[in-house]
Amino acid sequence: MLADPAYRRGAARRDCVFIFLIEKLMTFDSLGLSDSLLRAVAHTGYTQPTPIQAQAIPAILAGGDVMAAAQTGTGKTAGFVLPMLQQLGPRTRVSPGRVRALILTPTRELAAQVHDSILTYGKHQQLKSAVVFGGVNINPQLRALKRGVDLLVATPGRLLDLYQQKAVRFDDIQLLVLDEADRMLDMGFIRDIRKILALIPPKRQNLMFSATFSAEIRKLANTICKNPVEIDVAPRNSTVEAIEQGLWWVEKPLKADLLSELIRETSEQVLVFSRTKHGANKLVKRLARDSITAVAIHGNRSQSQRTKALQDFKDNKVQVLVATDIAARGIDIELLALVINFDMPHVPEDYVHRIGRTGRAGASGQAVSLVSSEEKKQLKGIERLIKRQIADLGSYY
Ligand code: AMP
Repeated sequence: MLADPAYRRGAARRDCVFIFLIEKLMTFDSLGLSDSLLRAVAHTGYTQPTPIQAQAIPAILAGGDVMAAAQTGTGKTAGFVLPMLQQLGPRTRVSPGRVRALILTPTRELAAQVHDSILTYGKHQQLKSAVVFGGVNINPQLRALKRGVDLLVATPGRLLDLYQQKAVRFDDIQLLVLDEADRMLDMGFIRDIRKILALIPPKRQNLMFSATFSAEIRKLANTICKNPVEIDVAPRNSTVEAIEQGLWWVEKPLKADLLSELIRETSEQVLVFSRTKHGANKLVKRLARDSITAVAIHGNRSQSQRTKALQDFKDNKVQVLVATDIAARGIDIELLALVINFDMPHVPEDYVHRIGRTGRAGASGQAVSLVSSEEKKQLKGIERLIKRQIADLGSYY
């Protein structure tokens, strides 16, 4: 045994092997989660907790504040959703118009994804949850909050709107999560966050997740968390996992309206995928009518037209590039913040190529799909391939 080379490489190396073995052997059962949560996890097919889950779940269950450096793709969502569901108990205990746990996220895609996780892992519990974000009708959200929710996922601006309309009171909040805190700061939400912090009870458990802990994030963390347990895990991203993916249910005749609305909401450049060349041309004309600058690249355009279109996009002379799958394959453009699938590809692998165009260094990108009822089959094929459900952002009609 002592002759085994692994025993001659020094203590540090042995510690690494040891930690690696613990992680390999770790199962969800050892984290202190209830049976109903373990059943829900088993149903997803996950057999081992990811490193962030292995560390965050026991720490959160212990009741203290937690500050975790973890990127999208590390399994961080289940890392806070599972212990929160446990803390809140098996059955709802909320009064009308109140909230017991609040999760703030920077984008609606992320909000929708987090809420999907709550539904997945909380399916054997009788807790009430809701998700609220801007850009959609506020009335259903007002109604959902009226009856009270145990877990509320929200983007900061819309939450404050709802508060001002007296749809929700914060007196019963006992748990607060800031998800992707670094992006919230980047996106200028700091004032909204401070307003919300001033409105919620000071005695609560705080959980902060951020891809990095810069000086600025630490400053914010110091004002929120008390003696937090600090967790840091290396990224585990494969590209698809690092991309926030959402979908809108929208019938064909309304897709162009929604597309214009989505593009108007951002000042960033956007790549739009169209399945057909004719469709790509029509879209450029339609966007122009809405005063959005766009160019198309597809196989029916001459090489010089394609080069010119691409150059205009690279030079930021136009905001939108509309491309067909084949035309997009070979092009060399920087990764973008947002990719929109105007229609769903017939080949599921094309979806992965398409969304691989988003995701900037250090930040996760967003991919939004416009799906009509006729495209449900394509959607199912894609979700099977990527082994995850694309977050439902709502219906547009
Ligand atoms: P997140 O970092 O929370 O966005 O999660 C990234 C992806 O990892 C999601 O698609 C999750 O469904 C998946 N995931 C979460 N926990 C596990 C696990 N224990 N094993 C395998 N995959 C997981």
